[in-house]
Amino acid sequence: QAKHAGRGCYSYYQQALEQQTNHKNTIRQALKQAIANNQLSLVYQPQIGSDDRLYGAEALVRWHDDELGFVSPAEFIPIAEESGLIHQLGDWVIQKSLSDLIIWQQLGMRVGHLSINVSPWQFALSGFADRLIELVQVKGLQAKHICIELTESSLLTDLKETIAKLNKLRAYGFRVALDDFGTGYSSLAYLRDLPIDILKIDKAFIDELEQYQSSPLTESMIAIGQHMSLDVVAEGVESANQVEKLKALGCDVYQGYYFSKPLTEQQFRVWLSHHNQQQEGIDSRPT
Ligand code: C2E
Ligand code: MG
Ligand code: MG
Ligand code: MG
Repeated sequence: QAKHAGRGCYSYYQQALEQQTNHKNTIRQALKQAIANNQLSLVYQPQIGSDDRLYGAEALVRWHDDELGFVSPAEFIPIAEESGLIHQLGDWVIQKSLSDLIIWQQLGMRVGHLSINVSPWQFALSGFADRLIELVQVKGLQAKHICIELTESSLLTDLKETIAKLNKLRAYGFRVALDDFGTGYSSLAYLRDLPIDILKIDKAFIDELEQYQSSPLTESMIAIGQHMSLDVVAEGVESANQVEKLKALGCDVYQGYYFSKPLTEQQFRVWLSHHNQQQEGIDSRPT
């Protein structure tokens, strides 16, 4: 009896594991199809400067599957990374977002810069910088209008190699943002050596501004960015109260639902024209 129950427990555990593996396999297969059939899409989330002007827009990938429904990138990006699909996916994101940037430029829209998330696996490829430079050249774009977002984990495996790559990209004109700052496990020492332009403070620390009386970590991270002459972007800003506090702390740029959710390319155009009209209204007000 006891033996039987024990086996039962074991197989229950094993079953759960198998289910998880099956689920991952399902996602991997469906994602492969989605990439091949051009079923991914991009949305853009505005980044707003403390002067209320558009500082940039971050491209975020979206996937709707007929059977699985909307799958979050937080779920499928890690699976794409494990299975190697991230290279095709990442390449598609770069190509598609650059095409959208061309549309905006042709329409005379000033979007600041386009910010693209780059996976550690993409960045680790030795040809990454050359490929990006080539795409930008072929499309007739200027690198200064493009920012790549990297997380700490992608930068620290081989610091020397990373620095060389970043220098190459920045020499060509690209901007580089350190994404999800504060959530990694690394020490602060590397920050001094990394050639970057922008520090993106993770949402977890922006939440801190609302939750606690004092927010020493958030304050310190903003101060670090300022001392290093980096632009500091706050991620996941959801309230006017947070904006007020961030402004007082000297944070330059805000991104979050308070200003706008991520928008389709067309929604983004409409949003920007409304935003610009509002701006003009404010600018032309008698003082
Ligand atoms: P991330 O790069 O840190 O992007 C910010 C995430 O926060 C996005 O989630 C965005 O929709 C969400 N967000 C923005 N403002 C708010 C807010 O005010 N409140 C809340 N609750 N959330 C907010 P999303 O689009 O689900 O993406 C999740 C992560 O997936 C991204 O985090 C990024 O690491 C990854 N990802 C998304 N698109 C791509 C891509 O094209 N390539 C790669 N490699 N990774 C991507
Ligand atoms: Mg990002
Ligand atoms: Mg982020
Ligand atoms: Mg994040």
